[in-house]
Amino acid sequence: MGRFEGRVVTITGAARGIGFAAAERFATEGASVAVIDLDESAAADAAARLPLTEGAEAIGVGADVTSSPDVDKAVTRVVDELGGLHVLLNNAGITRDNLLFKMSEDDWDQVVGVHLKGAFLMSRAAQAHFVSQRYGKIVNLSSISALGNRGQANYAAAKMGIQGFTRTLAIELGPFGINVNAIAPGFIATEMTDATAARLGLSVEEFREHTARANPIGRVGHPTDIAATAAFLAGDEASYITGQTLYVDGGQTVA
Ligand code: NAP
Repeated sequence: MGRFEGRVVTITGAARGIGFAAAERFATEGASVAVIDLDESAAADAAARLPLTEGAEAIGVGADVTSSPDVDKAVTRVVDELGGLHVLLNNAGITRDNLLFKMSEDDWDQVVGVHLKGAFLMSRAAQAHFVSQRYGKIVNLSSISALGNRGQANYAAAKMGIQGFTRTLAIELGPFGINVNAIAPGFIATEMTDATAARLGLSVEEFREHTARANPIGRVGHPTDIAATAAFLAGDEASYITGQTLYVDGGQTVA
């Protein structure tokens, strides 16, 4: 029996990258999965590729996590079509990197909007179901950039904000059987970090090799590293862990 059999897991930004790897992991372990992403057809495509176990289902839902009507409709659809909601992974994210003097208001608003407002709207919609069933798991994506990263004032502020948000929800929702934790990944090889390589004028390989040397483990992270962490934090063995941010970075932040 899979660890998440009978559970419904919703993951934002799950059409690709870390979100898709997490969707695969939860599906492998028996969950029904809702893939939420901006583009409904990309979300549906990703849902169709999941390795579901018998009796589990997957749907793809197009929604912008910064839009309250989109989020409310998406969560209602998940509950109606998959029969409930037990785990929320707030993963959708973007970067708009620039040094402060060149950062536009739009760069700021978009990044803070997707990461912080998106996690807020999704968590608020999900908690209604979690509280009434006295069970729920929220896992938020922070980043090692929360500790400070040149060119990412917007992203760092949002990702540290996610840590405060996580701690606060843990306090408010713990009495209702809801665990809220965050993962702060280091470099994970996805389209997001490939785009950063291009901005720095490096090839994807050069950037990955350079980053691998920056941590004691000596390799870059892969989406499956974060998927495994999300499954751990959303599992019942982790039910005494809440309000925490787990750094998954090959030791980069302790080196
Ligand atoms: P990614 O490959 O760029 O995937 C992000 C996904 O989020 C995309 O499918 C994107 O859709 C979707 N998305 C963006 N804005 C959205 C919105 N408003 N509503 C719904 N979906 C939206 O990114 P990733 O590398 O997998 O990162 C996933 C999460 O991990 C992010 O929160 C990121 O900040 C965090 N993280 C990543 C790393 C890393 O090294 N990769 C490190 C630390 C933290 P579109 O394709 O349509 O834009």
